[in-house]
Amino acid sequence: MDIKEQIKRLKKEKNAVILAHTYQPGDIQDAADYVGDSYGLSVQASNTDADVIVFCGVRFMAETAHILSPSKKVILPAEDAGCPMADMINGDDIVKLKEKYPDYLVMCYVNSTSEIKAHSDVCCTSSNAVKIAQKLPPEKGILFVPDQHLGSYIMEQLGREMVLWDGFCPTHVRIQPEMIKQARELYPDASILIHPEAPRACRELCDQVLSTGQMVQHVKTSETMEFVIATELGLIHTLQRERPDKTYHPLFSGLLCPNMKKGSLEQIVSALEGTGGEVITLPQEIRQKAKYSLTCMLELS
Ligand code: SF4
Repeated sequence: MDIKEQIKRLKKEKNAVILAHTYQPGDIQDAADYVGDSYGLSVQASNTDADVIVFCGVRFMAETAHILSPSKKVILPAEDAGCPMADMINGDDIVKLKEKYPDYLVMCYVNSTSEIKAHSDVCCTSSNAVKIAQKLPPEKGILFVPDQHLGSYIMEQLGREMVLWDGFCPTHVRIQPEMIKQARELYPDASILIHPEAPRACRELCDQVLSTGQMVQHVKTSETMEFVIATELGLIHTLQRERPDKTYHPLFSGLLCPNMKKGSLEQIVSALEGTGGEVITLPQEIRQKAKYSLTCMLELS
């Protein structure tokens, strides 16, 4: 049987829903029920009556889905798919940081482990980060973890100082100002869209700084017909599906996250059959505390 048919049959049999992040390979995006950003996908899955969630992405994403849907079985098909940025801060680091700044609030990017979320006062996505920070009491200091570049973007937008952890996304920091300048010369009619995980010197040369979800919305509704995409290349597949009439240029061909490319259709089959992938579980205390920081985000957004 064709592998796509096999996935469809197993999905029905197990009452499962398949989620794919926009950085996943195109064939996985095409096999998924929902394609989008990590937090949005977890919310969508929590609103379904599925018993099983297969999350094609990296570990922190599947953990977030588990936090929001503890009664569903959440499976990460590529069990070795982690996020190097999320792993740049651990529980000991954040405890020490909080000891150093005892009166500060901790704001964490959703691209973080559940342990870090559990130590945080509020979470944010790259779409709502500026809005969330703006709503935190002005008399309070903010510790922002783990991405220094998203943190710097928030500070630039609000003119508000924060203490930034020095984490970074190894994929987005490969973007160089020269690449943007070159793209501008090559594609003078294109609008250049960049993710806030990229360094400031690059963001400043682009037309729009947008999260992946915002990029999809922007491309769908904008009158512009040509774009340079300065984020992980998987997004171009999503954009082509949404607006096949427009033209997309990757900023450069190496803008790939190796962890996001670890999945395969075969792994989805194994996850659904119960012979592969990892079923995500978290200690109850971590899950409940992490949920608190996500709930605070929802209340402020
Ligand atoms: S693109 Fe960056 S932030 Fe996203 S999963 Fe890969 S390493 Fe982590």
